[in-house]
Amino acid sequence: MSAFSNLLDLQRDLSNGTLTCVDRVNQYLTNIDKKKHLNVYLSVYAQEAIDRASEIDKKIKTKTAGKLAGLVIGLKDVLSFKDHPLQASSKILDNFTAQFNATAVQRLLDEDAIIIGRQNCDEFAMGSSNENSAFGPVLNDLDNTRVPGGSSGGSAVAVMADLCDISLGSDTGGSVRQPAAFCGVLGIKPTYSRISRHGLIAYGSSFDCIGIFGKNLHDIALVLEVIAGSDEYDSTVSRKPVPEYSKELSTNKKYRVAYLKDTLESEALQPEIKNLLLKKIHQLKDSGYVVEGIDFPLSEYILPTYYILATAEASSNLSRYDGVRYGYRSNHVTDLHSLYKKTRSEGFGKEVERRIMLGTFVLSASYYDAYYSKAQKVRRLIREQTKEIFKQYDFILTPTTPTTAFKLGEHTNNPLEMYLADLFSVQANVAGVPAISVPCGKDKNGMPIGLQLTADDFEEPKLFQFSQVMLNLA
Ligand code: GLN
Repeated sequence: MSAFSNLLDLQRDLSNGTLTCVDRVNQYLTNIDKKKHLNVYLSVYAQEAIDRASEIDKKIKTKTAGKLAGLVIGLKDVLSFKDHPLQASSKILDNFTAQFNATAVQRLLDEDAIIIGRQNCDEFAMGSSNENSAFGPVLNDLDNTRVPGGSSGGSAVAVMADLCDISLGSDTGGSVRQPAAFCGVLGIKPTYSRISRHGLIAYGSSFDCIGIFGKNLHDIALVLEVIAGSDEYDSTVSRKPVPEYSKELSTNKKYRVAYLKDTLESEALQPEIKNLLLKKIHQLKDSGYVVEGIDFPLSEYILPTYYILATAEASSNLSRYDGVRYGYRSNHVTDLHSLYKKTRSEGFGKEVERRIMLGTFVLSASYYDAYYSKAQKVRRLIREQTKEIFKQYDFILTPTTPTTAFKLGEHTNNPLEMYLADLFSVQANVAGVPAISVPCGKDKNGMPIGLQLTADDFEEPKLFQFSQVMLNLA
């Protein structure tokens, strides 16, 4: 599969007839079967994907195929794909079937992408290790005793282990970038409001963002260009025109890069990641880029702000799962109150329950001002200070994660330790700006290290361009 550098390359062979979409789907189905132990796919749409591939092969022959013809895509189990199961890896949505296509999914289909299956994730996208799924953890393909990161762990491993070309995930606090870093693939979270959230199961609506995993920048850029842009079903989506990202991938501009000094001093930072970051900073300087260390005085408030606001929004968003309208309903019900209580206690996993309780607490009348509204104000300050940096610099360069992929079970008994995995990724969500994780090296165990570039609102073209620079540094 990796014989192709990107989709353009692949489409050449598809047009020549030396390869067909059906061949590709079959190859992926074989790979998926071989790698079943990784627990990546919750559903595989084998026959449907083959049938669709053969339709697209016909279109390629008549030169009527869409932009994404040949691309095989997997969807995190939070994206609505009409008439297919959808359950956010939660028991509470048992037997639920999607009623419509998410806007992003519809746009992929309109351009002839092939959807191969539904990918495992942390329940309701809450987690950093994919250990919170009702379907069991996903394993990292490089070392099966380690986690793939989360919450979009299945989507990251699918790309890593050659089980699809591209995965769509969701990133509320790092859930695309953090697993991308743990799995050695690219993962982008665009600007908040760039992609419609219609058909994305809500976690923290003011943070939620569809993100894209892939192995090359061109294909990610092309998919973003297809799925981004205004949508009548989501009034929060920006009406800004969508650039042709995939045609603007190279540049000679000598961008200005900031790194955060306290990130480098963070005790949580694995020394090998620190050394890699320092090495890259030197390489960039040697290549003529301005790279300067700066202070970010609010950095210690970013993670708490995220966890207060995201849990508050989760508590509200997840109130709809009450056993009346969707999915699972408890069998041990005596009256309406016990229907709600038993359904929710039996249907949600421990981490989701913890988030709902935390969120309900910070929204309660007596604590609202002390936590929720204060966190809203701090969020505003974090966004303003972040935007201030972009008046002088094009990017903020940080590690994506404080450590590389950890062992399964290593942090499951300590939620606060687990939340630390998001230390560097949540700033982009709190500020609403775009960020990408670029695979840049490995630690002594051979586990991948990702570095993160963050840019100002709607500067995705720059992010793609500079990611290529980072990849070229070697
Ligand atoms: N790990 C973070 C959390 O658990 C981020 C999740 C996400 O981005 N969906 O909230």
